Amino acid sequence: MLNYQHIKIPQDGEKIRIVNNRLKVPKNPIIAFIEGDGTGPDIWRASKRVFDAAVEKAFNGKKKISWMEIYAGEKAVALYGNNAWLPDETVEAIKEFSVAIKGPLTTPIGGGIRSLNVSLRQLLDLFACVRPVKYYAGTPSPMKKPQDMNIVIFRENTEDVYSGIEFKSDTEDSNKLIDFINESFNKKIRKPMSEFGSSRLVKKAIEFARDNKRGSVTLVHKGNIMKFTEGSFKEWGYKVATSEFRELVVTEDELWSQYNGKMPEGKILIKDRIADSMFQQLLLRPSEYEVVATPNLNGDYLSDAAAAQVGGLGIAPGANMSYTTAIFEATHGTAPKYANQDKVNPGSVILSGVMMFNFIGWGKVSRIIEKAMKKTIKSKVVTYDFARLLKNSKEVKCSEFASEIIKNM
Ligand code: NAP
Repeated sequence: MLNYQHIKIPQDGEKIRIVNNRLKVPKNPIIAFIEGDGTGPDIWRASKRVFDAAVEKAFNGKKKISWMEIYAGEKAVALYGNNAWLPDETVEAIKEFSVAIKGPLTTPIGGGIRSLNVSLRQLLDLFACVRPVKYYAGTPSPMKKPQDMNIVIFRENTEDVYSGIEFKSDTEDSNKLIDFINESFNKKIRKPMSEFGSSRLVKKAIEFARDNKRGSVTLVHKGNIMKFTEGSFKEWGYKVATSEFRELVVTEDELWSQYNGKMPEGKILIKDRIADSMFQQLLLRPSEYEVVATPNLNGDYLSDAAAAQVGGLGIAPGANMSYTTAIFEATHGTAPKYANQDKVNPGSVILSGVMMFNFIGWGKVSRIIEKAMKKTIKSKVVTYDFARLLKNSKEVKCSEFASEIIKNM
């Protein structure tokens, strides 16, 4: 175990271990948390109460989370000094303890670190950003049938235009690169994507579909225009599907050439859609999609647009994961104008916790939380963001919303 400067390892907990790429979770696992900036502390306090109550309800004191605070963002700068937005020991602790959950973090403005979230994903090689999008009855939504949406988006997290290969216009570096590309290839290469990065993401999405009995995985790409990057993403996706999961999958071509358009039972359909068309599809025919695998930038746009259809970012959960490490996180930002007012919706972090408990194999806890949250929203006891859109609702504070969920367990 490493020696940490400010992180205190709880004495009553045990480390989650990784054996053959699988988690071995003790009865009292240590889970790291970053409370986050702005509204983060309000949200974290409320969420932690919900998590502890659900674990207690599920296991009657036989299992318990040992929470371990780790630091990033403004709290880290205050504690570590030296403009340490993301201290090394925070990254090391997530590696060592495997599972972490976080509130939103301020993005430092100007120089230094570009984004704490992007840095965490890259430093820990959390290659899959997983965003489930589904509707909870009673949530205000702009759609006529929001319940038709129930998808899980797997967004590639480490490559594409997010890989940070960009240079300010008219600098020595940018001119050097432009000269090199022009002289050597006479064209611009802008979007690095690899077979390695694309295949492992698609593989993870298919494994998820298999383990959660989902009937299709859709590869979303812009390969009609960017043939060697986005187009290759599609090709590599089909390749990994038909080489590693041959018995389990049917491609859309095979569906018509071999099965007369009728999906054989127990198989997963692999299909692909062009990104712009997918935005239409999710609005008009959401029930035809279950799991989506897509490169980084497409995934970023698509997850927010899909979340908007079922009630917005206030309750959209997310996770960034590899096979051995995962960070579960709020998808919204720090909403600084509401900081310390005990006002905002803690739903995004609470539902990220639902994903986290599924990840560590404590599905019973997830089901308790989700059921209680559904009941709370349905009874129209909600925070300001939902209350302003719902007739006859009762507006409650962030902490009161958590108490209501606990009461409904
Ligand atoms: P934001 O914090 O997401 O807030 C934008 C608006 O979204 C808020 O004013 C509020 O809307 C609504 N909102 C956000 N969280 C909510 C919640 N929990 N409950 C209810 N409503 C919520 O976006 P921002 O103002 O652009 O960014 C603020 C800071 O957060 C920036 O430093 C940004 O870089 C950072 N950020 C961090 C993450 C992350 O850590 N994952 C993600 C995005 C942004 P109303 O005003 O309509 O009430």
